[in-house]
Amino acid sequence: MICFPSAASRHRAWEELRDRVAGCSRCDLSSSRKNTVFGQGSTESPLVFVGEGPGSDEDEQGAAFVGKAGRLLTKILASVDIPRESVFITNVVKCRPPENREPVPDEMMACSVFLETQLALLRPRIVVTLGNTPTKWLLRTSEGITSLRGKWIPWRGAFLFPMFHPSYLLRNESRRKGSPKDLTWQDVKALREKIDELGLILPPGKDDAS
Ligand code: SF4
Repeated sequence: MICFPSAASRHRAWEELRDRVAGCSRCDLSSSRKNTVFGQGSTESPLVFVGEGPGSDEDEQGAAFVGKAGRLLTKILASVDIPRESVFITNVVKCRPPENREPVPDEMMACSVFLETQLALLRPRIVVTLGNTPTKWLLRTSEGITSLRGKWIPWRGAFLFPMFHPSYLLRNESRRKGSPKDLTWQDVKALREKIDELGLILPPGKDDAS
């Protein structure tokens, strides 16, 4: 287990990690990326969101969830009074897979040291996985998002809570009962309830997007 005893050493380790990601060539995704996407949001938050990987807007800007799907995520969180800046958001892989394909296991394995160190430093109480890829990867399961979404899964002394990826919601516009959007509305309300039940304090939006 990685142990970081003080806030100062955690901050130092965080900045070193950011530098390592920025210069990383551990897998082939380094050759086609424009920018690495480390993640952004509050490093004091008890909530961490993990997506699959950067898309073209994210690759362009070097920031996570800034495209259409990211804007939808911001709206979903705001609907239950979770300011986007009060959580930390990152991805399984920090470089864009070409043509927005799913990252392959070798790429996720190469990048896992970064996500694992982020999680060790952030020590979240709730990890929300967005979509199939981060859910399967972090749980080491073949079970899909459709059956796992909305479940509170005890995980490493915290909870892992899978939700649909916002890009999936963009492709499924229906709001009727049982639709992905309707289920996501149930899930985000459950997330809000869990935050309140655990007495978690969401920090004011201090964005660590540098
Ligand atoms: S995806 Fe991860 S492991 Fe691969 S080059 Fe980018 S930062 Fe490095």
